[in-house]
Amino acid sequence: MRPFAYVKAADVDSAVRAASEPGARFLGGGTNLVDLMREGIERPDTVVDVTGLPFDTVDDLPDGGLRVGALVRNSVLAADPRVRARYPMVSQALLSGASGQLRNMATVGGNLLQRTRCPYFYDHASACNKRSPGAGCDALDGFNRSTAILGVSASCVAAHPSDLCVALAALDAVVEVRGLDGTRRVPLADFHRLPGDTPDVETTLAPGELVTAVELPPVPVAANSRYRKVRDRASYAFALVSVAAALEVRDGAVTEVRLALGGVAPKPWRATRAERLLTGGPADEDAFRRAAQAELAEATTREGNAFKAPLAVATITAALRELSTGGTGR
Ligand code: SF4
Repeated sequence: MRPFAYVKAADVDSAVRAASEPGARFLGGGTNLVDLMREGIERPDTVVDVTGLPFDTVDDLPDGGLRVGALVRNSVLAADPRVRARYPMVSQALLSGASGQLRNMATVGGNLLQRTRCPYFYDHASACNKRSPGAGCDALDGFNRSTAILGVSASCVAAHPSDLCVALAALDAVVEVRGLDGTRRVPLADFHRLPGDTPDVETTLAPGELVTAVELPPVPVAANSRYRKVRDRASYAFALVSVAAALEVRDGAVTEVRLALGGVAPKPWRATRAERLLTGGPADEDAFRRAAQAELAEATTREGNAFKAPLAVATITAALRELSTGGTGR
């Protein structure tokens, strides 16, 4: 590993100042950054350790939502009784990711910032526009089974790896960030970027900006929600396709629905087209499938990942079916 300077931040202002210098990176749980440093993908000059900052609580908001500190560990958030009752999809998404040991280390802020697991990104012998801008993309015609089918570009087809962010997208979560100019709030939908021709730029954070919290707004329909994840192994595997879904049905009709997809796009993918088609219509299997097919209609598939489009349709349909019939799907 390349030598680097280590700074333990005493307060948020000094953390932001230190991380605003070129070549600096924040360190939280380290479950992704340290791996990337070992592989020589990330080569920071300075690591700014923020684990001593007071962002490790989950607090009730006056409007009925929750404010989740960026340093709350994934295992703690998954077990929070308020999260389990009001936002079960969040708890299920967290518990579907990584391993128990990693969830004990990984933080909510770090989860938002984790980088793709595209194998070419980690292989210095391969061409990768995300690692080396302008180098090309070996995944386009290579081993692309895990790559994205929505929102991709000719420069990069990597899928976003987070489970938590899929549930946050469905909830319209808001990310609180602190920078040299103060605090600002960023809707999760605007936090991650699609690759375009700059896949190395993955978020809308400015240099030195620190994620301090994630706010979950009050979403009553989320009490009837779930996270369904399809993967190659029953545990410790990234999603091929995942669905965060919440549904309210009255008199056989859909009165409210939230849908977001993981494993199929370079960012957490809010399925707005499917939501629009479903709202006000019948809550039956045909309607669920038609809405899912409409969402996937513009998928751009490659030889290795063409299976993801029908898999996503089936997964969305199954998740909505379970919610409409009161099944937990566990
Ligand atoms: Fe790199 Fe993206 Fe291509 Fe993977 S898909 S090789 S991350 S540019």
